[in-house]
Amino acid sequence: ADFPDDRTAVLTGAASERGIGRATAHRLARDGWAIAIVDIDGAAAHGAAESIAAEHGVRTLGVAADVSDPASVDNAIGAVEADLPPIVGLVNLAGISSPTKFMDITPEEWDRVFAINMKGTYLVTQRVLRGMIEREFGRVVSVSSISAQRGGGSYSKVAYSAAKAGIIGFTRALAREMGEHGITANCVAPGPIDTDIMGGTLTEEHKAQLSEGVLVGRVGTQGEVGALIAFLLGADSGFITAATYDINGGLQVS
Ligand code: NAD
Repeated sequence: ADFPDDRTAVLTGAASERGIGRATAHRLARDGWAIAIVDIDGAAAHGAAESIAAEHGVRTLGVAADVSDPASVDNAIGAVEADLPPIVGLVNLAGISSPTKFMDITPEEWDRVFAINMKGTYLVTQRVLRGMIEREFGRVVSVSSISAQRGGGSYSKVAYSAAKAGIIGFTRALAREMGEHGITANCVAPGPIDTDIMGGTLTEEHKAQLSEGVLVGRVGTQGEVGALIAFLLGADSGFITAATYDINGGLQVS
């Protein structure tokens, strides 16, 4: 099928002002996508949707939802389907980090990390795929992390690394089942990016520390990850599926 002109991208976890998702949403809006922002912070989701509509002149919707709750996800995606053009792209970004060392982690924290990062990706993807399979077209991008590949090593520890590694296996297996439906599934695995997920806005000292081993000597920007995601969602990426893209300034080899 041809790449549709009239199309919506759903982004989970794209409400936070300095997050990767917000920057990605702006980038996709610039490329002509209608934008749906699904986030547990409903007020921020509405605010993001409004500012993106105002800046880029595209249709947008902000919806409050907890990605780890099936009913909440069903309602949110239902609202997007009722209000915006067909969902062609899904970007799974909703996530939390976990700096707790292995011997200190509790079953409750473990479950929370997996509920949001992993189960949330499963629930939203399954709900969005219904329409994509019907239309025989779709692109799914899920955000893993270099922590999955290197076993943490920067901020997050075992639980987060395991959940983000899960995203990679999830994506590869999903791609296998979805190829025949005209749907691709890929991951991006960012290194340290200058957002607030690591316990608040990064100090210069923390940035310098996170840059150790990064070949280009700095942390990455939200826009750099957004541009990669936009490419993977875009018209020219139809032969890419089951792939994981490193975007970490070379940290993967150090
Ligand atoms: P962020 O904290 O700015 O964004 C995370 C968003 O997820 C927030 O808007 C938050 O409200 C939302 N969220 C949290 N729990 C939710 C839930 N239950 N339901 C719906 N939404 C929920 O962080 P970010 O750095 O932009 O992270 C985006 C993604 O990128 C995450 O999956 C993160 O693990 C991943 N990532 C980040 C980095 C980094 O260095 N910042 C590196 C690798 C991967």
